Amino acid sequence: MSRLIVATSNAHKVQEIREILCPLGIEVLSAKEAGGMPDVVEDGNTFEENAIKKALAGARAFGCAVMADDSGLEVKALNGEPGIYSARYAGEGGNDGRNLAKLLKNLEGVTDRSARFVCAIAVANGDGTLRGTVCGECRGKIAAAAFGTGGFGYDPAFIPDGYDKTFGELPAEVKNALSHRGNALKAAVEKLFGEER
Ligand code: IMP
Repeated sequence: MSRLIVATSNAHKVQEIREILCPLGIEVLSAKEAGGMPDVVEDGNTFEENAIKKALAGARAFGCAVMADDSGLEVKALNGEPGIYSARYAGEGGNDGRNLAKLLKNLEGVTDRSARFVCAIAVANGDGTLRGTVCGECRGKIAAAAFGTGGFGYDPAFIPDGYDKTFGELPAEVKNALSHRGNALKAAVEKLFGEER
């Protein structure tokens, strides 16, 4: 089994990436397990730019190939917000619960609740160069309130197209099979993984 370090301190992301890549024979190590996530200022203007920054910082810190995920939620009625600010939507000291509450408040009375999750994945080589990037998306809509306790972040409010339950209510296998992260990882396996495959 080959190994891949994921440059993130988000334990939920690591768990999902592990669930998706482990059956393919790829062992996933979190940055914490590899010695600690280096500090990265996520000041890029796109998910892709931020994923590249994290992957390059990880590869330089660990001296081996590193993958990074930058992701978030884009809501049509909010002109694409929270977007790249998804993790910080409720401001300093915010958390998943506050971000979710702010989102639902901002959508009170709004009928067009269409939204999409986006995930950019970057892989950097052990010599500190960029191997490449891929993107995945998952389209759906924002529920009237939060339902379910599964997943993380905005999952309790996101209903993927073709379903009538939120990611917070659906089993992890269902989320992983259709999520932005699942789709980006499928593309990464095809295009970016060499010896990790
Ligand atoms: P990042 O760590 O800067 O990429 O920010 C990711 C943020 O986007 C998370 O903190 C969540 O708020 C949101 N997000 C990304 N992926 C998901 C997901 O799969 N479910 C729910 N929220 C997500």
